Amino acid sequence: MVLQRIFRAVIVGPPGSGKGTVSGRIVKRFGLMHLSSGDLLRANMKAKTELGLLMKSCIDQGQLVPDDVISRLILTEMRNIDQSSWLLDGFPRTVSQAESLDNVCSVDTVINLDVPYQTIKQRLTSRWLHLPSGRVYNIDFNPPKIAGLDDVTREPLIQRDDDTPETVTRRLKAYENQTQPVLEYYRSKGVLETFSGTETNEIWPHIQAFLSKKLSPQN
Ligand code: ATP
Ligand code: MG
Repeated sequence: MVLQRIFRAVIVGPPGSGKGTVSGRIVKRFGLMHLSSGDLLRANMKAKTELGLLMKSCIDQGQLVPDDVISRLILTEMRNIDQSSWLLDGFPRTVSQAESLDNVCSVDTVINLDVPYQTIKQRLTSRWLHLPSGRVYNIDFNPPKIAGLDDVTREPLIQRDDDTPETVTRRLKAYENQTQPVLEYYRSKGVLETFSGTETNEIWPHIQAFLSKKLSPQN
């Protein structure tokens, strides 16, 4: 048996750049564990946990939740998967979060999805989500097999409260101001890999080829 070293990856990109979709493909193809800060926060809001209720107004307004809150949440969840290779999605989003992560472990690769803002704005308004799994659909280019229902569970899909045009604009601002510096942070560490394009299906083969060189695909 060949023991593979633990592989730690982060996926970053503006809201709606396809992080969730690409993460799903990476997980399926390469068998990494997936941890999404957005999915975790939405699960907390749905379950009406204290944290979920506190963070809802912040999230619905398109602002980032406080660094200490999200860092604690993610680093706690990471303890459950620290024996596996993993992919972090939506975290870190600020340099301070990246530093918190660095205090715990180093990241092997940061996959940066570089998608033009114009494309993003169009996408987000036609996006539908299966809340329990985080699976995302788009009525234009990635529709569910049955309208309004998740392909796997047949449960209903929802639209996110923060996918309105005004909130999307605010989320893009937050991305520019707070997350772009994270790209610089990882670029200076030599682990940033940027993939540019307007469509996930166009970007995906490049990501797949890149990861295949680092990891052996799952059969
Ligand atoms: P996508 O549209 O690809 O899902 P997103 O960035 O718009 O990307 P999520 O990652 O799902 O959306 O996050 C939704 C919201 O949750 C963010 O707008 C923010 O309020 C909050 N959030 C998620 N991750 C973080 C984080 N690391 N730091 C601060 N706030 C976060
Ligand atoms: Mg997401």
